[in-house]
Amino acid sequence: MKSEFFYKYPKTLLNKGTGFLSDYTHSLNPYTGCSFGCSYCYVRQMPVSIFRREEWGTWVDIKRDAANVLRKELRREKSKGKVTIFMSSSTDPYQPIEHKEKVTRSLLEVMLENPPDFLFIQTRSPLVSRDIDLLLRLEKKVRVSMTIETDREDIRKHFTPHAPPIPARLEALQRLADAGVPTQATIAPLLPSSEEFPDKLRTLVDRICIDDYFMGDGSGGRRTRNLGIDSFYHKLNAVEWYHPSAYQLVYERFTRVFPTDQVFVSQKGFAPY
Ligand code: SF4
Repeated sequence: MKSEFFYKYPKTLLNKGTGFLSDYTHSLNPYTGCSFGCSYCYVRQMPVSIFRREEWGTWVDIKRDAANVLRKELRREKSKGKVTIFMSSSTDPYQPIEHKEKVTRSLLEVMLENPPDFLFIQTRSPLVSRDIDLLLRLEKKVRVSMTIETDREDIRKHFTPHAPPIPARLEALQRLADAGVPTQATIAPLLPSSEEFPDKLRTLVDRICIDDYFMGDGSGGRRTRNLGIDSFYHKLNAVEWYHPSAYQLVYERFTRVFPTDQVFVSQKGFAPY
């Protein structure tokens, strides 16, 4: 999706972890807006998108001087106690523009100077593997969670045509795992997938998180319903996948291939450590 870019100078970067992210002391969004513009993105229903009055996916604010802001905040917050960071809750920290702007990379560099107790990186972008050198230096204090909602490219294109292809995400996961960066595959929101999906992930990760709209959109599925996401399932003739019990089928498929203590559901799969 073609996005417009704007430079912003935020005063703060760390937000208090609340609600679904209450296991974290803070969330951190290096950008505002998101070029991937996923159809089901619940951020479309949040004030950051509603008050902007521009279509979600068509704009991105680039946070300038973010490293200096974070450096000060990290120092202050760490002096008060434990700091665990979820990056990111309302954007993808590896936006396509991150290739050029390197905001997220600059934040990782600051975290190496003064590491948080834990950093969780949620992304669907293979670009995260560019930063393997920095991620390795955070050792066990980081986990990269790669969104892989389905193993089917036709389904991915139907729901998120502007997001990176699934094979490229799998390759990035392989690079991260080979390098020794702690990783997980996050099937969220779970989309229609094949029976072979678990086998495709088995050699790549030893941690799976499964989540859906009903558990994970922060409103029991209301935000997603308001987006009219059911029409996407009707077009596919796959309405059985848009149901609170659909995750059980995926859970069963994965626990046939992965040990049960490696397969997490909803909030537990996003928890620190
Ligand atoms: S990548 Fe994440 S933040 Fe961006 S549009 Fe998709 S779901 Fe929303």
